[in-house]
Amino acid sequence: MSESEAEKELRRERATAAALKARAQTNVPLDTPLECIVTTVEESFDLIVVIAQLGEGLAGAYVKLPRWNVALIAGKDAAVRRRFTLAHELGHHFLGHGAGFDTNSSLNDEVDPDESSANRFAAEFIAPRPAVERFISELEDDSPTLEMVCRLANHFAISPKAARIRLETTEIVTDQGLLVRLDAQIDDHQAKGCFERLGLEDRDDLCRMPLGQMPRLPAEARGSALADYLAGTIDAAELAAAIGSSSEQVEDALGRSVL
Ligand SMILES: [Zn+2]
Repeated sequence: MSESEAEKELRRERATAAALKARAQTNVPLDTPLECIVTTVEESFDLIVVIAQLGEGLAGAYVKLPRWNVALIAGKDAAVRRRFTLAHELGHHFLGHGAGFDTNSSLNDEVDPDESSANRFAAEFIAPRPAVERFISELEDDSPTLEMVCRLANHFAISPKAARIRLETTEIVTDQGLLVRLDAQIDDHQAKGCFERLGLEDRDDLCRMPLGQMPRLPAEARGSALADYLAGTIDAAELAAAIGSSSEQVEDALGRSVL
């Protein structure tokens, strides 16, 4: 049975509250952007971050291995998308969801309760309402234009689309006609020129790692069977033997996702 509107609203509120609780577990004040989400996640949660070449169509995955819980992030995606995917996988972890794979469409899924909750969690974790409100209040020109969307996106190192959605969910912009016009400008790729004109550059964090340097693993996982598997020096059966699991479990958890 599908959820009623009241149930959806309650679930969204719970996901938002969980994200604020998760932010309180980090050492970053609620009204401040995260300098590096990879570092913050690994320092504050029982979750390691692996950025690697994943199978076609995959944006990320939440995987539970015997030694680690892993957020797998697709290296093919731009840094702004990798950050949102990581916050989404943290959402699955923090909200107690099961392991699973994410495609680009699950990162926009507003129907599946777990996916929708993880997305709401991600938006609030990366750009909490108090931080968004503070940033907007400090802008010299706070008219809701593409320039505001780009400045907000740059401040939180998220995509223009994610920033525009945040303006709506925080109710800073409520004019539906204006939101549609902003969407059209973003879909028309006008944000790129706006970033250049304003001299806005993307955050230099671990999510910016070039594809050629993949896979990205935390120091604690280097030299592990997982690292060897990601580097292609051992196969699923060898990784399974190393972590005391079956090769079917490894294939299920990682095999389908890693080229
Ligand atoms: Zn998901």
